[in-house]
Amino acid sequence: MSSLFPFLQQFLLDFARLTLWLGILAAVFVPMERFFGNPERGPKSPLAGEVGYYFLNNLLPAMLLAAPLAFVAATARQLLPAAWLELLASMPFALKLVVSLFLSELCSYWGHRLSHEWPLLWQFHARHHQPEQVNWLTNSHNHPVDILWARMTALFPLYALGFAEPVAGRDNLIPILLLLFAAFWSFFIHANVRWRLGPLEKLLVTPAFHHWHHTNDEWRDHNYATLLPIMDRLFGTHHLPDHFPPNYGIDDPSEMAPLLPFGPRPSSSGPSSPGPAPQSKRQPES
Ligand SMILES: [Zn+2]
Ligand SMILES: [Zn+2]
Repeated sequence: MSSLFPFLQQFLLDFARLTLWLGILAAVFVPMERFFGNPERGPKSPLAGEVGYYFLNNLLPAMLLAAPLAFVAATARQLLPAAWLELLASMPFALKLVVSLFLSELCSYWGHRLSHEWPLLWQFHARHHQPEQVNWLTNSHNHPVDILWARMTALFPLYALGFAEPVAGRDNLIPILLLLFAAFWSFFIHANVRWRLGPLEKLLVTPAFHHWHHTNDEWRDHNYATLLPIMDRLFGTHHLPDHFPPNYGIDDPSEMAPLLPFGPRPSSSGPSSPGPAPQSKRQPES
């Protein structure tokens, strides 16, 4: 029983932290969407369900990944050549941060793209594309297996190549601030706001960019980047016209894997069916 106590304590701490974070996010995004969003694109999914996804996907994958990530980092420290580790240690912090961000974005781009192109992964990722209206909480509308895959592809290369430390050190303030920014930004790019952000759109993923990734037509298989749109420019999947997409969602919810292992697949005639919008395969665009 006593061995359960630290686990329970950590779980309750994480739950409290996530509740506080949810309150902050709601205080920012609810008024933002109310004043600057398209009222016809208001949330349709039940709020309780979206909040359930938020807690599920922020608690479970983090618990499952903590030990494997620590193992990969510790093993990498043993196996990587000493010259490489010395090079990393001598690298200016800002440069190391930029390289880490670029490497993580590169791997996360391909992880995301594969989750569209491999049916095995798509059945889990399709759940993120299910909502017919996209708003800030859609960021959490995921299957936990999809989150595990996304975090693994973004983080494992950093740990395996020695860019991330196995144990948090006192110099980790900037990475933590960057992670907080990335977490906040991932909610922002889903927000139901009609803003265009000018030159910033070349540098950072924005709501218009990511909303096109949620469209219910061939443009869905574009705009895979989570922070740096240059990834999509490099690999020919960038699509950013001057308007927002007309339709969101997926044609057939039965494509989605059940949320619980061995549970029934969602019905294709269920309430989340987005109607007759066309669905076709990817057409590369420069
Ligand atoms: Zn996707
Ligand atoms: Zn999304």
